[in-house]
Amino acid sequence: MARILIVGGGPTGLTAALALCHHGLRPRIVEKRTTPSPLSRAVGILPSSMEIFDRLGVGKQIRDRAVVIERMEVHREGGKVLELPLALDPDPDVRLLSLPQDETEAILAEALAERGIQVEYAAACEGLDNPDGPVEVTINGIAETFDEVLGADGSHSVVREALGIVAEGFDLPEDWSIADLDLAEPIDPHAEIHLRGSHAVVFMVPMDTARVRLVSNTSDALATMGDGLDVANIRRTGEFRISVRQVPTYRVGHVALAGDAAHQHSPVGGRGMNLGIADAAEWAERLADGTLEGYGASRHAAGRHTIGLSESGRKAFLTGGLRRSLSLQVLKIVSAVPPLARRVARRVILA
Ligand SMILES: Cc1cc2nc3c(=O)[nH]c(=O)nc-3n(C[C@H](O)[C@H](O)[C@H](O)COP(=O)(O)OP(=O)(O)OC[C@H]3O[C@@H](n4cnc5c(N)ncnc54)[C@H](O)[C@@H]3O)c2cc1C
Repeated sequence: MARILIVGGGPTGLTAALALCHHGLRPRIVEKRTTPSPLSRAVGILPSSMEIFDRLGVGKQIRDRAVVIERMEVHREGGKVLELPLALDPDPDVRLLSLPQDETEAILAEALAERGIQVEYAAACEGLDNPDGPVEVTINGIAETFDEVLGADGSHSVVREALGIVAEGFDLPEDWSIADLDLAEPIDPHAEIHLRGSHAVVFMVPMDTARVRLVSNTSDALATMGDGLDVANIRRTGEFRISVRQVPTYRVGHVALAGDAAHQHSPVGGRGMNLGIADAAEWAERLADGTLEGYGASRHAAGRHTIGLSESGRKAFLTGGLRRSLSLQVLKIVSAVPPLARRVARRVILA
């Protein structure tokens, strides 16, 4: 049987491993962390990912634990100025789900364990040689050989570096921040709220009836949110910078890249994890089919499309003045006309 290595136990690596099991292959998956990540980074799960999860047998577990985001609201200091319904589509699968990334990862890892594959924690890939095969990989100081390798090792990918590939693009200068909070009182878990000041924006995404994620284009999401939330417990706050980057080449010889190792963009629109899940599923399917030569071109095009969408979303949300007022007015009209609202919701959720 082919010796297959997946580097990285994030959502991309876990999906790739599970998809390979689905095709009757048995990879190894190494993760440099000593334990699963407790971080709730990506919360939005799109229907395209649910389609993959259903195929891999974990869709029900995800749906059972996720909340459905039924509408997007825009608030200003004076209160709500827009409500866009997101759950109008008669197809119940055209929905945006919200689940903390650590829970999604736990479900994937559990399913892998049920299929007899354990994520190898505290196992770091330190380098890689001879991508034309057999690929030589150093894991915790020991050299091992593999027939196929997937670098799903995130934005600072060692695999990408070993291949000499540079993710092309740019870094945004602003500090962004997140806050993961438990609230004192339950809230409606079905509304994603965008709170806009003159320059600052906070996105509040519910993860449960009393747990929310704030993301802001300022360095302190909680302070930018103001006094509107009764916070019982701050699980985590953090700052981050946004890179908008993509590798020109997704595959060299028998080594491929997927997920954040291949692309990064802003969290606006919540697409990063979903794109990695799609990379992973396609890589596994192509490996099983013997069509890996088409992987790079196909995923590069998909990545470019998603980065374009995410960048236009980021610019639309963050521009000020007349353009923003106009786009709000247009959205207000759209949200009042169900067929139009349905089309916009499909675009938000499915594009
Ligand atoms: C604040 C924030 C909010 C976000 N919200 C969303 C959202 O709502 N929806 C969405 O789709 N995306 C969102 N994202 C993006 C999303 O979190 C990432 O796109 C996603 O985690 C990428 O998954 P990955 O598996 O490719 O990489 P990662 O999650 O980074 O996983 C890579 C793994 O590889 C391991 N690793 C690294 N190097 C090595 C090595 N040398 N050897 C072994 N293991 C290694 C790491 O420890 C890590 O566990 C958000 C990101 C942020 C920061």
